[in-house]
Amino acid sequence: MRYSALVDAYQQVEATTKRLEMTAILVDLFKNTPPEVLDKVVYLTQGKLYPDFKGIELGVGEKVSLKAIAQAAGYGEEEVKGYWIETGDIGLAAEKALKAKRQRSLFVQPLTVSNVYDSLDTLARASGGRSMDAKIKILSRLLHEATPEEGRYLLRIVNGKLRLGVADMTILDALAIAYASKEDRARLEGAYNRSSDLGKVARAVSQEGLDALDDIVLRLGVPLRAMLAERVPDMAMILEKMDGKCTMEYKYDGLRIQAHVGKDKVQLFSRHMEEITEQFPDVILSLSEASKAKETIVEGECVPITQDGEMRPFQEISHRRGRKYDLKKAQKEVPVAFFAFDCLYRDGKDLLTTPYPKRRKELAKALRETERVRYSTTRTVKKLEEAEAFFQESISSGCEGIMAKSIGPDSIYKAGARGWQWIKYKRDYKAEMNDTIDLVVVGAFAGQGRRAGAYGALLMAAYNADEDRFETVCKLGTGFDDKTLFSLKERFTEQKHIHPRVESEMKADYWMVPEVVMEVAGAEITLSPIHTCAKDSIREGSGLAIRFPRFTGRWRKDKGTEDATTAEELVGMYKAQLKQVGE
Ligand code: AMP
Repeated sequence: MRYSALVDAYQQVEATTKRLEMTAILVDLFKNTPPEVLDKVVYLTQGKLYPDFKGIELGVGEKVSLKAIAQAAGYGEEEVKGYWIETGDIGLAAEKALKAKRQRSLFVQPLTVSNVYDSLDTLARASGGRSMDAKIKILSRLLHEATPEEGRYLLRIVNGKLRLGVADMTILDALAIAYASKEDRARLEGAYNRSSDLGKVARAVSQEGLDALDDIVLRLGVPLRAMLAERVPDMAMILEKMDGKCTMEYKYDGLRIQAHVGKDKVQLFSRHMEEITEQFPDVILSLSEASKAKETIVEGECVPITQDGEMRPFQEISHRRGRKYDLKKAQKEVPVAFFAFDCLYRDGKDLLTTPYPKRRKELAKALRETERVRYSTTRTVKKLEEAEAFFQESISSGCEGIMAKSIGPDSIYKAGARGWQWIKYKRDYKAEMNDTIDLVVVGAFAGQGRRAGAYGALLMAAYNADEDRFETVCKLGTGFDDKTLFSLKERFTEQKHIHPRVESEMKADYWMVPEVVMEVAGAEITLSPIHTCAKDSIREGSGLAIRFPRFTGRWRKDKGTEDATTAEELVGMYKAQLKQVGE
């Protein structure tokens, strides 16, 4: 299959903002893809070569990109750099350079998907002293054979900037339509949730048919997608939603970890299925000591603690993330405890469809409690007063609220989904908007005066899960110290046009790829004609906006953009606020 088929599809995808149209384009692409390369096509479309948990990253730096383009196009690096600055997009710079190519070879073969994938794979795995030269060579050879349009996407993908605006769920829709039917989508999604691997799902359904999806089972070392919680504005609603009875757990303020514990090996995964084993050798040790099973997958929250076992603020654990050096020192300075709250697999038994009360029993069979491994504190409640008392208890012990969990027969573990089986309720929801929310950066405005040259304010958005897009709620210009303010530009990927998944009526000076989540505090939620969040849902022509937004200083690196506060949640919070004012 030619790589140009992918490039044609990508260009069409970029020309639309409508999810249904994107799906139709992908359906066409997948139908025309030979099954033996469908997994490669899926990974490439996601902008990667492997599922995230494999930890094989494509990113090449500025130097490699410039040199490779220059070599392939017979240009000077400075000229290419000029194109880059002019277009603000390394992909477009490559395209431009290749269009004006001075040495066009007459006998180049068209690029194939396998060719591109295998070359990128070699590039991603190149390591050691001469790896930079090797990477330049591979990339320039590909570019030598590429058309200018192909060059655009090759450079974007190796720079980790493909970002077609296609969500994983859209790819799943398209796979279901192309190789099964819309009705079978849930089966595909189930297999994806168990494996976190879209390529694998694509391979199974296209090569062996739907039933092969059932063979995609939980395995140690392969993370499954995390279950997420809904939120409500007041405690009484929790009991209503849970039919009057539920088990509540302390909501620990730490880092969610999915631990795969085998006899000789323990692996840890983050909420985004990245492997973080290396960063927590102490947790590995604690878990192997605590394990009673041959093999188990458990979930818990890692919380920094004092020598006496008291909980410490979450921020302290963020020092441990991404840290490769001084691990020993960090372990001593920031010891952590693992508060286990769920068990998803034990000794050959997949527990995803087992109701929650039984899963907790399995948890007790899988792990014993030790100094550093504890079960999350739980209490089954029926009355509002009981729930309030448990909430207070949780706050006093240093937690941020409670997680209410359904105990009904349908209380299965819904991997990858947000559902009413779990409801979170945090301390701050009680006041107007003392509550913090997590918003996505989608644009920025140029700074003036002292801020000239930096951003003056960021354009922030909530996630609309129904539409799968980001809707603006405020301009954020407060809460930054100077150092943060002047280094903001390095944190985002600017692009020329508004991103297809962003809905905005404001015209920002810069547009960003939605990828960064920030915690924001505000005074209250108001109606606003210029913001698009939940537009028309409270009043015709108005969206929701945050008044006096302020950055809390907390970058929610643990959250993906789709985990940001949703438009629906803001509607709930807005209504709750009205109720309080009325009282
Ligand atoms: P939030 O990050 O505010 O969306 O809240 C959901 C997160 O709470 C989960 O992803 C977990 O990291 C965390 N959490 C803390 N305690 C628990 C618990 N007992 N059960 C489930 N999740 C918990």
